[in-house]
Amino acid sequence: MKMERNALLVGSVIGIPIRLHISLLLVVGFFALSSGAGFLWILLLALGIFGSVALHELGHSIVARLFGSYIHDIMLYPFGGVARISNMPKRPESEMLVALAGPLVSLLLALLFWILGFRLLASLNLMLFGFNLLPAFPMDGGRVFRAILSKRKGRLEATRIAATWGKYICIIFVLYGIFSPSVALIFIGIYLYFAGQTEYRLIKMEYQTDPFGTPDDLPGIEVSPPPYAKNFEKKWKDLFRS
Ligand code: ZN
Repeated sequence: MKMERNALLVGSVIGIPIRLHISLLLVVGFFALSSGAGFLWILLLALGIFGSVALHELGHSIVARLFGSYIHDIMLYPFGGVARISNMPKRPESEMLVALAGPLVSLLLALLFWILGFRLLASLNLMLFGFNLLPAFPMDGGRVFRAILSKRKGRLEATRIAATWGKYICIIFVLYGIFSPSVALIFIGIYLYFAGQTEYRLIKMEYQTDPFGTPDDLPGIEVSPPPYAKNFEKKWKDLFRS
C-alpha cells in the first residue's frame, strides 16, 4: 500500500485504483478510538459503508468505460466518493445510463444486505440510492434530469436549467442542515452548489470556444454520491496539462 495524492491506495478493481483519502482515515480512526462501540465494530461498519460507496462509484465507472471513457481512480472521502473520469459520454442516452448505474448498484446492495440481515447497511444503501437521485445537479438525479432536458433544449440550456434547480435544492440542503442540525448536509449543500455552477460555466466555455462540437480536452466530470474534493477543477487542469 502506498500514499499518493494524500490518499492510501488500497487496491484496484478491474484496473481502477481505489484510494482512501487521508481525511477518511482520520475520521474512521477517530471514531474507532473514541466511540464506545468497539474498535473492530467501527472498522467493520466503515468497511461496509465505504465499500458500498466504492461499489456505487464502480457502477458509474464501468458503464462509462463501456462508452469509451477512461477512469483514473475512485477516491473515497468521509462524505462520499468521487470517480475521476475523462471523456465522459455526452449523448443524453449514454449520460443517463452512466448516471443511473451508481444508484442501481446501491439499490441492489440494499436488497442484498436486507436479505443477509444487515439492516443498517441495507438502509444506508437505500439512502445512497434515494439521495443521489434527487434532481440536484451535479448529483446523479440532476444528471438524469439534464439528459432528459438535453433532448429538447440542447446540452447548454439543459445544463443551465438543471444547475439552477440544483442551486435551489442545495439551499434547501443547507437550511435543513442548519435546523437538523447536520454538518454533513451543510457541507454537501455548499459543495454541490459551487460544483454545479462550476460545471455550468465550463460547459458554457466549451460552447463559446467551439459551438459546432464538444472538444474532449476540457475538465472531466466527478460523480456523486456527494462529490467532495477540494481543488478538483485545478487537479483536472494539471492532469491535462502534463
Ligand atoms: Zn452516483
